[in-house]
Amino acid sequence: MYDVAIAGAGPAGATASKILAEKGFQVALIDKQKFPRDKPCGGGLSLKIFERFPYLKKNTTFDKFPIFDFVLFLEKEEKLTHEEKSPLGFTIRREEFDNYLFLRTKDAGTVYFEKRVKDIRITSDFVEVFLRDQNSIKAKMLIGADGVNSIVANKTGLNPKWNPDRVALLIVKEFFVGKDLISNSIGPKTFFYWLFNKIRGYGWVFPKKEHVNVGLGEMLSTTRNLKRSFFEYVDFLKKSGIIPKDLDPRGYKAALVPIRGPLSKVYADRVLLAGDAAGFVYPFSGEGIYFAMVSGEIAADVLITALETDNFSEKILSRYQKLCKKDFGEEMKFGKLLQDRYTYYQKINDFKKLMNMAIIDEKMKKLIIDCFLLNHPTKKIKKDLFLRYPIARIKSIIRSF
Ligand SMILES: Cc1cc2nc3c(=O)[nH]c(=O)nc-3n(C[C@H](O)[C@H](O)[C@H](O)COP(=O)(O)OP(=O)(O)OC[C@H]3O[C@@H](n4cnc5c(N)ncnc54)[C@H](O)[C@@H]3O)c2cc1C
Repeated sequence: MYDVAIAGAGPAGATASKILAEKGFQVALIDKQKFPRDKPCGGGLSLKIFERFPYLKKNTTFDKFPIFDFVLFLEKEEKLTHEEKSPLGFTIRREEFDNYLFLRTKDAGTVYFEKRVKDIRITSDFVEVFLRDQNSIKAKMLIGADGVNSIVANKTGLNPKWNPDRVALLIVKEFFVGKDLISNSIGPKTFFYWLFNKIRGYGWVFPKKEHVNVGLGEMLSTTRNLKRSFFEYVDFLKKSGIIPKDLDPRGYKAALVPIRGPLSKVYADRVLLAGDAAGFVYPFSGEGIYFAMVSGEIAADVLITALETDNFSEKILSRYQKLCKKDFGEEMKFGKLLQDRYTYYQKINDFKKLMNMAIIDEKMKKLIIDCFLLNHPTKKIKKDLFLRYPIARIKSIIRSF
């Protein structure tokens, strides 16, 4: 019997399994896909991931493309441009990034099963994970890190199904454009198009070393024809000269992402949920890679205590939820607040007010960018916003006269 079985080898599962295997525990990591595999994603990383996981900084086998400029449009109108001397963040390709994490966990001694999990059974002594090929794996504990459509969350009843109002549907395509076009034309710039075509969401353009990643997403509950909006969006980007005219949006990928904060309960008997399976995504921007890795790390730490003391009680496992809340609960709450105000209820006038303040007040502009990227602790961002907002507001009112 394994100590821990982990469903899903994305950032959440790979992070947890690496830590557990390095501590000498027997880990079975199960993923339905063959690595290296792609995952529909923008591949944007804010700076905090490199602070929290310093091994991502150096000697990595994936390319990190630094982003220095941030350009924000409201609908189709440019509202905010900011250039920094040091990187605001990095972009990566998920195929390379996830494979790097995957290989590290294999090096640590994880046993890998390239199989789809189709069911689970929890007994008083172990958890049994049933695979597609009729085989099963027994372990003392299970981490459900199997993404937004988590079978573990479903079978444990922790999340029978996402309410369409809690997930966003995103369409993305990563185009190969070559190094020269990136350095000579697109540059180290990210573009955001808030409420493009009046959708409840946004579009982005993320340059990478040789690729450009273009995507558009909105709340699933209100989506009408996202495919059409995506084609219009790509067309608009071409006409604006942001991306080359010959890029073909066909062959795009679509995926869901939880966008309204974590599930109310992320543990059950012998089971923890991590990453997207638990809803750990920053609601305002959709950033999830960092929170997947952090929750994978916390899950591993809690399980180490459980395994060392041979105690798998609810009390021990409930610590996981408490620790996640302590670590990034503030971000989840703050992101939902911002999302409510500026995306969910589409308060365009509020957004315009905010942009006008950013145009006239440099400090306010940096704070708004921080609301997207979370490059500083949320408590600090909130406090600074509270202090700056009245000053920036007065400045923008005076300017409008
Ligand atoms: C279009 C799009 C753009 C995004 N852009 C960004 C971004 O720029 N930056 C950012 O930080 N976040 C972004 N996100 C969010 C980010 O992709 C996720 O939050 C992150 O991948 C979560 O990691 P995870 O390990 O929880 O799940 P995943 O990365 O989804 O990994 C889950 C793994 O589980 C496996 N799996 C699923 N079901 C089973 C099963 N039944 N049996 C076995 N294996 C299974 C899958 O094959 C997969 O490998 C984006 C999401 C989308 C959809």
